[in-house]
Amino acid sequence: MTRDQAIRKRDRLAAKLSPSSGILRGSLLQRTIHHSSGCLKCARGEGHPLWVLTVGYPGGKNRQVSLRPDQVPQVRKAIEQYHEFKRNLEAISELNQFLLRLDREESKEQERQA
Ligand SMILES: [Zn+2]
Repeated sequence: MTRDQAIRKRDRLAAKLSPSSGILRGSLLQRTIHHSSGCLKCARGEGHPLWVLTVGYPGGKNRQVSLRPDQVPQVRKAIEQYHEFKRNLEAISELNQFLLRLDREESKEQERQA
């Protein structure tokens, strides 16, 4: 990869990062809740499905957010966007690292020639 290719690739990735306001970190879980008494569905053993967003934090902490069914598609999309954003960020970082190393190699080359 040449410097120009690396810079072009990096700038393309950076341009993709811009719409970041919708991102959400975490994962979707489907749970079933059971009432202890007075519910026919639960008496039949069916229970009620419930969607939860779980978000992990350093130190093993976890936060859970209950979701309405109509929020699930939007949350799923936001989680995908988070992963894509992170992948792009990581790729940009790798390209900048490559450019740094290239700079260093080129300056060594010039020292040898001087
Ligand atoms: Zn119930």
